[in-house]
Amino acid sequence: MPFDFNTAVRKRYAILPVPRDFIPSSETPTSQILWVGCSDSFIIETETLDVLPEEIFVHRNLGNLLHNRDLSSESALDWCLDLLKVKHIVVCGHYDCALIRENDANEVHGWHKLHRTNTEYLSNINNNLNTEDRDRILEEIYVLAEADWIRTQPNVKKAISGRGLQVHAFVYDKARNQCVRLVELDMVNGAK
Ligand SMILES: [Zn+2]
Repeated sequence: MPFDFNTAVRKRYAILPVPRDFIPSSETPTSQILWVGCSDSFIIETETLDVLPEEIFVHRNLGNLLHNRDLSSESALDWCLDLLKVKHIVVCGHYDCALIRENDANEVHGWHKLHRTNTEYLSNINNNLNTEDRDRILEEIYVLAEADWIRTQPNVKKAISGRGLQVHAFVYDKARNQCVRLVELDMVNGAK
């Protein structure tokens, strides 16, 4: 499994608001952002970032995942890097995601089996968390792990070093209609 939950769970990070001009608009209808979002996030990307709709190439699926090796996700990444040459990749999860909330579907879907294991792991290392806080932290860890995986991809690494591509970790809070970004401070075990 390329998705490295065990590394991401040890990260220390700041949670900062995303100002609307965090990525300045080019004011031209040219894609400069690959936005990886969740299908049930209800976020309006151009309300979070003050850019033209044409500046954001949106790829949504359940759990905002590119690492799942499906044809659509792989193609979105390749298309945005090789043809559109985007300057930013935003992984945007959201709090209160249906995939993370406990429900009957947890018993049947593959993603939920992985999630259940991760929930137990987090509860074991921090058993003082209430369910809401635990689920919010899990969402943040998933986004950080996904951003990490994206940074390891050869074409992403090449774009980061060659032309300054940036990968951002966002989480949307629908209840507050606010988007935050996760900024790593350091690693608890080992340097980054
Ligand atoms: Zn979701």
